Amino acid sequence: MKPELSVVIPVYNEETGLAQLYARLYPALDALAARGVSYEIVFVNDGSRDNTALMLADQFRLRPDVTRVVLFSGNYGQHMAILAGFQATRGEIVVTLDADLQNPPEEIGALVDKMREGYDYVGSIRRKRQDSAWRTYASKAMNRFREKITRIKITDQGNMLRAYGRNVIDLINQCSEVNTFVPALAYTFSRNPTEITVEHEERAAGESKYSLYSLIRLNFDLMTGFSIMPLQWFSMLGMVLSAASALLVFLLLVRRFILGSEAEGLFTLFAIAFFMMGVILFGIGLLGEYVGRIYQQVRGRPRYVVQTILEHTSNDVSETN
Ligand code: UDP
Ligand code: MG
Repeated sequence: MKPELSVVIPVYNEETGLAQLYARLYPALDALAARGVSYEIVFVNDGSRDNTALMLADQFRLRPDVTRVVLFSGNYGQHMAILAGFQATRGEIVVTLDADLQNPPEEIGALVDKMREGYDYVGSIRRKRQDSAWRTYASKAMNRFREKITRIKITDQGNMLRAYGRNVIDLINQCSEVNTFVPALAYTFSRNPTEITVEHEERAAGESKYSLYSLIRLNFDLMTGFSIMPLQWFSMLGMVLSAASALLVFLLLVRRFILGSEAEGLFTLFAIAFFMMGVILFGIGLLGEYVGRIYQQVRGRPRYVVQTILEHTSNDVSETN
């Protein structure tokens, strides 16, 4: 029997918050079930080094009818965990959620209602974001930049509380992108996207799993994974700069023949040269981002390794490999 709703939750070192998550998630979904929405929850343990895997297995034993657990053999990142969760889902509507209770489980019902109106992608906008000021600001800035260089219209890209239709999930399951950003990938496949406003809470327990570095990497994935506009802009900039430098060379040549050799303005020239070098280094780095992506893609190694899936088959509770 296929459930109507699949909830996918990536979990990494969340032992301190899982009990609270269960205590709110299951009642919220049982309330939905009472309204006729059958559900399943797919937890993906992203190689946690604490007790998370054990706690997920315990929960699976408590509610095997609606719980499935995918266990990774290592840490492959939140987005890979979500993709593996998608592979395991069977529902017509798939909702993603963070394990840290920043996305209130009680909002899932609102997403489902919206999906039932005929949309195949329901994004969400956090009414009042409960993150540190610098993250909120930086994320807003990246959001605006991404709007400019891609055709993806997402108001609040950092928010994972979203619902996707089966058609979108099936297409995502066919993709083999190595580093990707799930909400953006899903958006490119949706025919009829919309957004709703949801609450956002402070992290219930534990701390953010994202360092500044991994946040920057994630944003690169968002830019270089969905647009070649940075490359195109760069070649435009190259054209303008080389035209300007050609003009400068011409001007200096003329001065050389009229006034003879002169050494003044040496440091101005240095400044110009250094600026150009900076631009060149940036260009090489930018190219490198794309080459690196191609390299990872061409290597074609498995994107993640699933150790075990805990799931309920027919009548008994069993573990499948
Ligand atoms: N997460 C994961 N793998 C990782 C990092 C995070 O599965 O390598 C999960 C984490 O357990 C949580 C969600 O992704 O459920 C979002 O992580 P977090 O709350 O740390 O990110 P933030 O809210 O700070 O963006
Ligand atoms: Mg969080």
